[in-house]
Amino acid sequence: MSGLSRELSSERQRQSRFEQGDDVVVMKFGGTSVEDAAAIRRVIGIVQSRLKAHPVVVVSALARVTDQLLEAGTAAANGHLGAALATVRGIYVRHEQLADALVDGSAYSALDGELRGEFRELESLLLRLEASRQLDAQSRDHLLGFGECFSSRLIKEALCQAGIRAAHLDARACIVTDARHGQASPVWEVTEQRLQQAVGPLLQSGAAAVLGGFIASTGDGVPTTLGRGGSDFTAAIVGAALGAARVEIWTDVDGIMTTDPKLCSDARVIRKMSFDEAAELAHFGAKVLHPATLAPAMRENIPVYVLNSRRPERDGTEIAARARPGAKTGNSVSAITAKRNVAAVEIQSARVNSELLHTVYAVFDRHACAVDVMATSQGCISLLVDSASALPAIAAELRGVAEVRWENHQALVCLVGENIRRQPEVASRAFAAVSDMDVRVVCQGASDRTISFLVEESKVEESVRRLHGIFFPQPQPVRDWGGISSAYCQAG
Ligand code: ASP
Ligand code: MG
Repeated sequence: MSGLSRELSSERQRQSRFEQGDDVVVMKFGGTSVEDAAAIRRVIGIVQSRLKAHPVVVVSALARVTDQLLEAGTAAANGHLGAALATVRGIYVRHEQLADALVDGSAYSALDGELRGEFRELESLLLRLEASRQLDAQSRDHLLGFGECFSSRLIKEALCQAGIRAAHLDARACIVTDARHGQASPVWEVTEQRLQQAVGPLLQSGAAAVLGGFIASTGDGVPTTLGRGGSDFTAAIVGAALGAARVEIWTDVDGIMTTDPKLCSDARVIRKMSFDEAAELAHFGAKVLHPATLAPAMRENIPVYVLNSRRPERDGTEIAARARPGAKTGNSVSAITAKRNVAAVEIQSARVNSELLHTVYAVFDRHACAVDVMATSQGCISLLVDSASALPAIAAELRGVAEVRWENHQALVCLVGENIRRQPEVASRAFAAVSDMDVRVVCQGASDRTISFLVEESKVEESVRRLHGIFFPQPQPVRDWGGISSAYCQAG
């Protein structure tokens, strides 16, 4: 099928899932976006602003809850039941207080009843963990999923209290996965069918659907999870199944940034990028939303927006499912990343051939040392590794076959942008900016989207600042980055 006819047929399919003209928006709220009453009130306002677009709301557990559940489970399995129950009690009280602040009257009593029921189930799980003295992957999934069960019920009631027609859906009944506990993958056809059956009628009736992210179950109903941070994945799965017009990832930063604001205070939000660019950013050390988790949206050509729930009026970042060549104007460099703590390794041997490559790969693999980038020339293989710790042992093992040398404390600085390799002026401007810095060019991979080079780690800030000044020359007047922490985009 040609690209165009595939596009047309997916367009037709999408329309057939709902009445023509009916849009669906999937809105995922991360833990920090629902962490307290003020945050949940902001969520209510944001959902209210999207009511016409048929919102499906996917929520994470309240901030820190998943970690606390893990802590409680570990304590119980180690025989410290008292500590485990105290931790869980704290989680219960936090939800109760929020229910009290956000929901009144009979709705409060009903919610309270539901939360109590879930907490009793959680406590009995902890008792079983204490008795068995182990926390296996299956119990762990059951345990960690409680956070999203609590938060989704709470948010649904809070929305109703604010006058929004909303219904709660049990994600475990809709999203069916394999049994790979801790990192389950959806069984696509069943999941799609169940989601359409459960969500479709709700949306048609004008109600918003609310479900927990991250959680799912096997075909036999055993609870699973999609992996830590998996609520983004849930949002993409739901969006793809419903043929949504857009997926919104609401978090606590303004979007994906041009560089790490800790390295360069002029960093600014990237308005628009492709999934491929996002993937390169993730590969080169940026803590952006991982594109793998958004794959279902990408497959269905559904744009994903990264937005700040604290400042919903901002535009955020649009990740376009497919790069539209020519649609992009202005800067050809989208972002600059820096990956620290890299070691540059050179492996010298009289004969660099496929046998040697094979041996080298096998030795690095055995030492669980991931090789990042590779170039070969006559007599030399050069590669980059994320940590030098295994290198002495690797060098010892390769003695007699090849000589291994390395330089530690390097940083890999990378320019990312569609087609930048095909624009020689980008590289020449970049290298002119850092020509006094003893940089080494690295041309890795087959991608046209990156130009990268090594600098000494002590020079990373200076080089990123200079490059940013060149490729993003006009700092925006507003420099209040509201809550940006260590990540360019920390999806909370
Ligand atoms: N609550 C889960 C976690 O903390 C899933 C998520 O927030 O996306 O990993
Ligand atoms: Mg997250």
